[in-house]
Amino acid sequence: MTHIYLDYNASAPLHPDVWRVMEPILNPECGAHNASSVHYYGRAGRKIIEDARCHVSDLVGADVNQVIFNSGATEGNNTVLRHFTEKYPDESILISAVEHPSVSEAISANGGCVRVVPVDGDGLIRLDVLADMLSTQEKVSLLSCMYVNNETGVVQDIHALSALAHKYGALFHCDATQGVGRIPVDMRADGIDFLTLSSHKIGGPQGGGALVLGLCGQTPQLLIGGGQEKSARAGTENVAGIAGFGAAAQVVRDGLDTYQDLAILRDKLEEGLKVISPDVIIHSENVSRVVNTSFFSLNGANSQSMLMAFDLEGIALSNGSACSSGTVKPSVTLKAMGKSAEIASSALRVSLGWATKEGDIDAFLSAWKKIYSRINT
Ligand code: PMP
Repeated sequence: MTHIYLDYNASAPLHPDVWRVMEPILNPECGAHNASSVHYYGRAGRKIIEDARCHVSDLVGADVNQVIFNSGATEGNNTVLRHFTEKYPDESILISAVEHPSVSEAISANGGCVRVVPVDGDGLIRLDVLADMLSTQEKVSLLSCMYVNNETGVVQDIHALSALAHKYGALFHCDATQGVGRIPVDMRADGIDFLTLSSHKIGGPQGGGALVLGLCGQTPQLLIGGGQEKSARAGTENVAGIAGFGAAAQVVRDGLDTYQDLAILRDKLEEGLKVISPDVIIHSENVSRVVNTSFFSLNGANSQSMLMAFDLEGIALSNGSACSSGTVKPSVTLKAMGKSAEIASSALRVSLGWATKEGDIDAFLSAWKKIYSRINT
């Protein structure tokens, strides 16, 4: 059976240009690169890391020395949120209702005071409610909002969010994991003080990412130990992983215009869905979304059963928020958007990427035809 991968928001396959960069670094004949060592191999490792830093800073519009490599967006989000809960224990942190658990759980695990900003029925953060929350007596140290939602693909108005935070004296953190490489992200223009991103969502290897600092002068720190990353993130650098991340950053930056062509495939998929199943609900269809994501529900159906049925047809999808145990829970984002439990439990996410072909969409639609007719008999 041929297998078709339509789950890029979970992890994108390694891009061939990334593999080309990583392969010689992983080759045992090339020796070990500990970038802290002063010898030839260490210096070679250092050069690889600094080149990658340039590519990542270019991708997000930051100064090169503001990029701190780490193990991914979970670490980056934990680093920022824990810093603020510890440094400002008497102030609150505002997060949107649709944040990834690596933001929302990082605060509650740390006992911080968190207030949640609601979203509307399309998943857009309620700027009017946010303004009210910021203007109360209670001091807010940080506003944390994602750029693009991992389930719906909805793009937030980051410029407006950061402007509101700054107006009331708070700093602004943006989890841009699902935005980077899909839409232009410019930290300076967007007024972002802390940006987190992940390598494996853009065709780089898993287990890598970065926290990128704006110009507010604070450097949140989670891991203490050796002086790596200018003492901002201890631990021997993952040289091959960082090289791959840098290569992926270069690939997605150069390919940002052609990436938008995925809209043709996504629209074909959604039109096909509506023809086959007129009762399908496509979430956030009429607001700004990244072009690679489609999130839809079939009221009354069970997303876990549908996922398994697609898997048997050789098609890999997600329900949007698969947890590490492999179990499927109702969509957190849809619940926050005010959708019923039935709709939140019947959602599937298709996410496309660099290797997706039109034939993959055709295969998806013919599988959907079969699965839908079984549900309806
Ligand atoms: N934030 C968002 C919006 C995500 O989609 C993900 C990955 N599911 C993460 C954070 C965590 O990223 P990582 O896998 O790099 O830890």
